[in-house]
Amino acid sequence: MKIASVIVDVPAKQTDKTFDYLIPEQWSDIIQPGTRVVIPFGPRNIQGFVTEIKSESDFNNLKAIIEPMDLEPVLNHELLNLGDWLTEHTLCFKISAYQVMLPAALKAKYEKKIKISSGAAVNDLAPILHPFFQKGRTLSWDEALQFGIVPALKKETENGLLEVHYEVKERIKKKKLKFVRPLLSAAELTAEIAKMTGRQVKQKEVLTYFVLYHEPVELKKLLSDLSISASTVKSLVEKKILIEEDMEVYRDPYLNRTFERTKPLPLSEAQKAAISPILHSIEKGEHEVFLLYGVTGSGKTEIYLQSIQNVIEKGQEAIVLVPEISLTPQMVNRFKGRFGDLVAVLHSGLSAGEKYDEWRKIHRGEVKVVVGARSAIFAPFENLGIIIIDEEHETSYKQEEMPRYHARDVAIERARNYNCSVVLGSATPSLESFARAQKKVYHLLTLPTRMNNQALPSVEIIDMREELREGNRSMFSRKLFEKLKERIERQEQSVLFLNKRGHSSFVMCRDCGYVMNCPNCDISLTYHRAGGQMKCHYCGYESLVPKRCPECSSEYIRYFGTGTQKVEDELGKILPEARVIRMDVDTTGRKGSHERLLKEFQEGKADILLGTQMIAKGLDFPNITLVGVLSADTMLHLPDFRSSEKTFQLLTQVSGRAGRHELPGEVIIQTYSPEHYSVELAGTQDYDLFYNREMMVRKTHRYPPFYYLSLITVSHEELLKAVKETEKIVAFIRSQLSNETVILGPSASPIPRINNRYRYQCLIKYKREPNLIRTLKTILDQYQKDTKSGLQVSIDVNPFILM
Ligand code: ADP
Ligand code: ZN
Ligand code: ZN
Repeated sequence: MKIASVIVDVPAKQTDKTFDYLIPEQWSDIIQPGTRVVIPFGPRNIQGFVTEIKSESDFNNLKAIIEPMDLEPVLNHELLNLGDWLTEHTLCFKISAYQVMLPAALKAKYEKKIKISSGAAVNDLAPILHPFFQKGRTLSWDEALQFGIVPALKKETENGLLEVHYEVKERIKKKKLKFVRPLLSAAELTAEIAKMTGRQVKQKEVLTYFVLYHEPVELKKLLSDLSISASTVKSLVEKKILIEEDMEVYRDPYLNRTFERTKPLPLSEAQKAAISPILHSIEKGEHEVFLLYGVTGSGKTEIYLQSIQNVIEKGQEAIVLVPEISLTPQMVNRFKGRFGDLVAVLHSGLSAGEKYDEWRKIHRGEVKVVVGARSAIFAPFENLGIIIIDEEHETSYKQEEMPRYHARDVAIERARNYNCSVVLGSATPSLESFARAQKKVYHLLTLPTRMNNQALPSVEIIDMREELREGNRSMFSRKLFEKLKERIERQEQSVLFLNKRGHSSFVMCRDCGYVMNCPNCDISLTYHRAGGQMKCHYCGYESLVPKRCPECSSEYIRYFGTGTQKVEDELGKILPEARVIRMDVDTTGRKGSHERLLKEFQEGKADILLGTQMIAKGLDFPNITLVGVLSADTMLHLPDFRSSEKTFQLLTQVSGRAGRHELPGEVIIQTYSPEHYSVELAGTQDYDLFYNREMMVRKTHRYPPFYYLSLITVSHEELLKAVKETEKIVAFIRSQLSNETVILGPSASPIPRINNRYRYQCLIKYKREPNLIRTLKTILDQYQKDTKSGLQVSIDVNPFILM
């Protein structure tokens, strides 16, 4: 008998290894590496992934696999190996690595079921239980609770008359619909029609239909197309002329839309120069990472499309990642428009069932291209020819829970396995990527101008301190107010952007714009309402909010934070005639609402679109001529060393929303820090200068891309315990790592308490540290084994958010 190595679905240290099981003879053809199986594990039946088939085991008395869950493996060889890589690089459990590669629908759920023990009979049970176990029936745990019979069940379980089983339930059923198809050939059908009497009009009609369209048709459609009743079809089925069948159908969210097919455009000289190295690497089957750096509208997407075309012609497949928020219908249309049914789309707006269907199209090789958000990087293709990551600087490519992977790293690893290339595209590349391009680790490709040679919009920076000085206490500067009014009169549209992210607030002087920074870290202090304190979450520095500004002695020093709701209210007061659409997490929570609101705006049903960063992306409407940024500062002062970079990226991105078409665009950026280089340089849209400035800051403070980071977060219900353990960890790390490495902490996490657990952290900055992964693993092993202490330790290698 063959033996399977299985990774079981219990995410814990003790079970983070393979277990051996016998493969029953009847399943030996089906169970392969990558198949999910149901296995007995302790007292329960649970799910597992087969990773290897072998003929011998070091263990005796192996249990047998109960049954396979798949008819074909859900993970191919390459993805199984990628699981090893993920485990090693993100320090996650193997089971978490496999689970993250699959659509949610394939994640098993266990149902607790109560059954009569073999040998026991219904009449042996307490009478109250008789009705529930008649004729071999089983009882689900939910039913048991509902009928209030748990105590009786418990007693009979102790008596050995009942047993509890755990059954693995698949969450999603494949969608099936009733179809009808002819059993006879067209000629035979014609003969049948001839035999029918004049009264059988409806039946004749149905047969004629099938003579013409000799293929299965959905029953419902047939009934409505021919306006006939189900009984007509039924009698033809009884005569064995037609047959009714359940057929599996895909829930295609784009099924009822038509996509205007597009053809490759003749490329501009700049595009030709940029695409040529990509095409060369496709032709040669070489692995290379390209950084395609070009402003919005410079023709990057056309380059993606034509590269993919070459890949498809070679018989290979493509993955295109775009950030969730820019996975708009407009974006999807461009890929569907070029490649039609060869495209699958994966994003969080789809239901679990829809996602599963899209995934299966990829799995079965029915599509060649997948366009999706972060997790689409795990698309189960087997012959990848290119991976494209648009807006590569976006933070949403990093998953913030286990496994804490960055899609860019996974992309490069997969591309290496397939000897294919990765194209990273951005108008404002991440510092990491641009630095790698400068060092020739990545191949830099540049598109310097917009396709239509349209000038970038003019950007004006408004100093809000000046406004206050002149008596304007509103959140709208006089200039922005005037421009908004002007747009309404001209019947043009405006976008108002509230640069707000996270929950932190910072403390700032409204007179001079002075922001309270940490003296050690060059990062703004976070305001804590309780106690009116400000804290640094990198080093632990604390201080009280001063009564007066240390810079100019003004009393107007306070913490900051404004919501979209508040802006909408104020707009109602100062511009009552304006029709406003608000887009934020509150108004776009429901499925499809994002799309609907955008559509309304596009149709001109509003003058102003007001929103958070979610509106910064993908908007490309001809009538937008004004973009206003209400508060450029909010992000600038988050306790994050990337805050300048993110501010620059966002301001550049929103500015790009104006004047994409014939009408020229204007941008107004309101700020209390007009002299800050990320605001100033976003105003002139000068990425190169920004890059140079920011690199100097990163170098001085030893941040990426000069140093790598790892973040250890420790949490416990008792504050003291959390601090003490973090101290121990810091000491241990110090003893293991080199002197060049900077180890900061213990300090409170930016969110110091979650769910009544206190959180402390240690931040490691290093350049080369061969011992790091081993050291971190030792720490994890230690704490994951010791589950009784109540301590939780999590480690994020290359964290994006230092919370
Ligand atoms: P990006 O992805 O850099 O924002 P796009 O690829 O969307 O740029 O191009 C911007 C606009 O220019 C789009 O409307 C696109 O259809 C058009 N465009 C791109 N390449 C060409 C080309 N070679 N010829 C004509 N129009 C083009
Ligand atoms: Zn500090
Ligand atoms: Zn001041």
